[in-house]
Amino acid sequence: MRQYLEVKERYPDCVVFFRVGDFYELFFDDAVRVARAIDLTLTTRDKGREDAVPMCGVPYHAARLYLGKLVEQGFKIAVCDQVEDPRLAKGLVKREVTRVITPGVVLDEEQLDARRGWYLAALAGEGEAGPVGLAWLDVSTGEFSASELAAAELPDELVRIGPREVLLPASLAPSLLGGFAAAVSAAPVGSPADDRALVEATLGAPVVELGLDGRDRALAAAAACIRYARSTQPGGALPIGRLLVQRPADRLILDEATQVNLELFETLAERTRRGALLGVLDQTRTGPGARLLRRWLGAPLVDVAAIRRRQDAVEWLFERATLRDAIRAELDEVHDLERLTGRVLLGVAAPRDLAALRRSLARLPSMRAALAEAAGHDLAAPELLRLGLPPWGASEAGAVDLGADVAADIAATLVDDPPALWKDGGIIRRGCSAELDELVDVATGGKDAILAMEVRERESTGIASLKIRFNKVFGFYIEITRSHLARVPDRYQRKQTLANAERYITDELADYERRVLGADERRLVLEEELFVALRGRVAGQARRLQALAEQVALLDALAALADVAHRGGYVRPVVDAGARLEIDDGRHPVVEQLLPAGSFVPNDVRVDPDDAQLLVITGPNMAGKSTVMRQVAQIVILAQMGGFVPARRALVGVVDRVFTRVGASDNLGRGESTFMVEMRETATILRHATRRSLVVLDEIGRGTSTYDGLSIAWAVAEYLHDRVGARTLFATHYHELTSLARSRPRVRNLHVAVREWPVSPRTDGSHDRRHQESEVVFLHKLVEGGASRSYGIQVARLAGLPRPVLERAREVLRSLESGEDGGPARGPLAASPQLTLFAPAPAAPLPPELREIADRLRALDVDDLSPRQALALLADWKARLPG
Ligand code: ATP
Repeated sequence: MRQYLEVKERYPDCVVFFRVGDFYELFFDDAVRVARAIDLTLTTRDKGREDAVPMCGVPYHAARLYLGKLVEQGFKIAVCDQVEDPRLAKGLVKREVTRVITPGVVLDEEQLDARRGWYLAALAGEGEAGPVGLAWLDVSTGEFSASELAAAELPDELVRIGPREVLLPASLAPSLLGGFAAAVSAAPVGSPADDRALVEATLGAPVVELGLDGRDRALAAAAACIRYARSTQPGGALPIGRLLVQRPADRLILDEATQVNLELFETLAERTRRGALLGVLDQTRTGPGARLLRRWLGAPLVDVAAIRRRQDAVEWLFERATLRDAIRAELDEVHDLERLTGRVLLGVAAPRDLAALRRSLARLPSMRAALAEAAGHDLAAPELLRLGLPPWGASEAGAVDLGADVAADIAATLVDDPPALWKDGGIIRRGCSAELDELVDVATGGKDAILAMEVRERESTGIASLKIRFNKVFGFYIEITRSHLARVPDRYQRKQTLANAERYITDELADYERRVLGADERRLVLEEELFVALRGRVAGQARRLQALAEQVALLDALAALADVAHRGGYVRPVVDAGARLEIDDGRHPVVEQLLPAGSFVPNDVRVDPDDAQLLVITGPNMAGKSTVMRQVAQIVILAQMGGFVPARRALVGVVDRVFTRVGASDNLGRGESTFMVEMRETATILRHATRRSLVVLDEIGRGTSTYDGLSIAWAVAEYLHDRVGARTLFATHYHELTSLARSRPRVRNLHVAVREWPVSPRTDGSHDRRHQESEVVFLHKLVEGGASRSYGIQVARLAGLPRPVLERAREVLRSLESGEDGGPARGPLAASPQLTLFAPAPAAPLPPELREIADRLRALDVDDLSPRQALALLADWKARLPG
């Protein structure tokens, strides 16, 4: 217990998993909390005593399952293992905390998502006034980045990165995180000098070279990340290779609303990758490739040259389908090199991990050869060279480093297919160590020796049924059945008596037993030694392996974009430093996949700050306004990632930020009304958009009364036109907004066309039910000019609203429209008698003739009437009128 309490004292914020025999035990409050959290049975030590200690436990071999559940719930766990063999220990077995698992530091592959990074983030700074330092680290791979940004930008950035745990120093308020939900822990803070020393030592370069000079807060955040991560891994080195210092200005900024509204990473409704842009784009074959592509999507480029370099590489792979397919088939066999290398460095790689590393490395030469051959004297190849593609990892001498020596070392040391439970040995290849081979011979060659001894003993005693056997409790023994006991020689010493047999040992057999068991024990120790030495040697080459992993990821991500382009019929967009945006026959990458092939209607969009800067898009609900606007934004993002786009032709003048305000995003969880969220998002846009931005506004002002909404939408459009100058797509259901084009030179009206089918009898007198049922047909085509009507009632009808409601709506609409002539004050409530047609009881009793006509009217299905019948009815009613 004293040992336990010491550990607990050193890890006060963790629950301690304390290894006892085949179990991890938890005590005191830890036991109570954990038992409740993951439904374990709570017991007590020293049952019956007043001060009995609460405890619970999980079997050692199933621990990973329970650990996984606990971190998911935000627990931090210190795992305390036995670090010496209990059989050899004198007194208390030595125990140490071998690792700490926290929400942000998870190494178990089964828990990690192979297709996205698992980040721990740290913040640094004093108060909200100055810049905030942000660093984020994926401990499983060593991917490490840092930046400095304004406090207000932090929530968007956290959403983009998606850390599982945020380290917050006491100097910063938790409110800084905005609504970002993650586990929050105290940041381990050091002095500026300590921070500097720690970062320099970890990354092996001076602060100036790291790009952290003058960025003290980023430096402090990076140091906090390292300090915290290191405290979780007492036994291993962190796999940190380099630090990427990021500047927000280096990428296309996508705020949280935009990431969510455009469904970049997951869908709004089900929150799945399927149905999101990433679901279409992520055709990568490896974990590192998938993670890289995801990062690209969250941070498209703004530097034209860099975008074109990536496009060149995508195009090169796009044009070489056979090569691309061959490479992708090879990539299928490449394991997660980044995380394997990470596990090696952290000292948690098992023999199977190294075997996977070897198999993966074995794939590289053929891939590299295929690339080199295809590149040949190709003019495009230099572009790939700049990306570090072929030749991979070429050293100064031009030799290609594919880690062949590392693969050979692993192959020479490990068996091809080592067992998962390797503590029983059987992992080292024969021929690797002469001493081990000899031990194995003694331990296994023993079979022959025992058989020979058995034959000798049978001959000397004359007992044909004599057997030599082994069991774990008694070791080796000679077994003789009762009927032959008389012939047992004196040199046999009795060991055990059974019902119908006796078991004996001889000096020779005892001697043999000592040698074999000793050999077996020694063999296990030696196998482990040889394996750990191999792991150490591989760890020594980690930098090279990380560089290779990076190139494989790059190739995988580029090939995925090429594959998407090839299969989707995408084109390479022209990206330039101008400000125009022109898309011919653009399609929505996700919606087009959901529809039957060929049925998506492509659209042209041209926006230009100097000409058609603000497009007012009208059209009925369901016509495709949102789709066309989102597709424009997605095409821009895709283009700036370096990918091809779903269009016949596209010109993208680089965009600095994409802003969206789309539909009713559900922020109710944060206690704000839909309208409040809408206005907040609009305010952000107006404040931050520049001439270089792309602004997508869908139906703003919808969340309030008509006149308020229209006025706000109007003023926002004017401001974007007059003051901001950003390329803007403005979808609205306020048709009044189309008149802006008359007073503002750079406003253009567009509408999504629908075709209206007249509700009329055919010449043969029959009714075409189909056309009658669908008065509007959506063409999904964007055309010039404002829409003349909104067709809301027709759409409501398609949706199946009951007929009386539709008819009443038509009445109200008519009254409203005529009311406009008489002044806006006359609304539907200032009802004319005509409007009370369906009221339960008329205010004044009708004369009987009128009542009869009214009854007939009520019963009438107007849609079923031909004009001739209508005329006849009218004539009839007129004739019935009194007077
Ligand atoms: P609302 O105003 O009700 O939000 P909307 O005009 O924004 O409607 P969308 O949501 O964009 O309409 O589109 C409605 C549906 O029409 C989509 O789900 C899609 O199935 C289809 N659609 C949209 N655009 C196209 C297109 N270009 N080609 C084919 N189908 C389309």
